[in-house]
Amino acid sequence: MIEIGVDFGGTKIEAAALAPDGAFLSRVRAPNPGSYDAAIRAVRELVEEAEGQAGGQGTVGVGAPGSVSPRTGLIRNANSTYLNGRRFREDLETALGRPIRLANDANCLALSEAVDGAAAGAASTFAVIIGTGCGGGLVVNGLVVDGANGIAGEWGHISLPWPKPDEVPGPSCWCGQCGCLETWISGTGLQHDFARVSGRELKGAEIVAAAKSGDADAAAAFERYVDRLGRALAMVVNLVDPEAFVFGGGVSNAEDLYARLPAAISPYVFGDAWTATLAPAKWGDSSGVRGAARLWRAGQKVS
Ligand SMILES: [Zn+2]
Repeated sequence: MIEIGVDFGGTKIEAAALAPDGAFLSRVRAPNPGSYDAAIRAVRELVEEAEGQAGGQGTVGVGAPGSVSPRTGLIRNANSTYLNGRRFREDLETALGRPIRLANDANCLALSEAVDGAAAGAASTFAVIIGTGCGGGLVVNGLVVDGANGIAGEWGHISLPWPKPDEVPGPSCWCGQCGCLETWISGTGLQHDFARVSGRELKGAEIVAAAKSGDADAAAAFERYVDRLGRALAMVVNLVDPEAFVFGGGVSNAEDLYARLPAAISPYVFGDAWTATLAPAKWGDSSGVRGAARLWRAGQKVS
């Protein structure tokens, strides 16, 4: 059976058809049209185009921002805000004339990497997205752990653990709280921290590059970043102790991260020995579309 995945991103929408062995049969993309009815149409057209090129119909899984409220069935917390309060899954089902499965982008990243990516063979995988925002997704024994209320893995909106005096209460977050991980360890958080301390304006990727080339302000900001990310991941270790951590999003391209994180995590782990795989997503930007395609695999319980 062909598996179709759709990655519904803020700027573009991608659809891909995967063969049972994971090979790409087709990939098509279009810009996010920025309004609801046009987005439903765009997804339908992309799925039909992907299927036309692949030569058959498939199951359809969609990776979307935010999550579906189990109480109302409506999308909440999506950064493509026109999705919020909509029955996105049902409307896609009507447009495509078949059942659709939906999961957030971090869950799709975790599933993709657990099936045949950087976490292949690991019994438990925690995926982290450190880009414009900050998200988390958990896969255990090949299954997405969505939680009783669809909230599992919403790691970006936990406060920074083991805070230092100057980190409290922390920057205010769009979710209404202060000091959420997203305000510290997203690419945007790195950018704001750098600006606050140095008075200079650089983007996340520029700070990482400047740190590498010896800029003292940038190196200090990256140092603070690694320490904060280490604490945030140690909290996940103490709660779930996953075998593998995989990373997506812009900041995950900072190669230095993977050599430095173990020393940043270990001091906060409540145990005498700790090891885990820490790696960037093997499938890079394609992890979202590949994970979405896998949402129809046996046993998945997602909306
Ligand atoms: Zn928050």
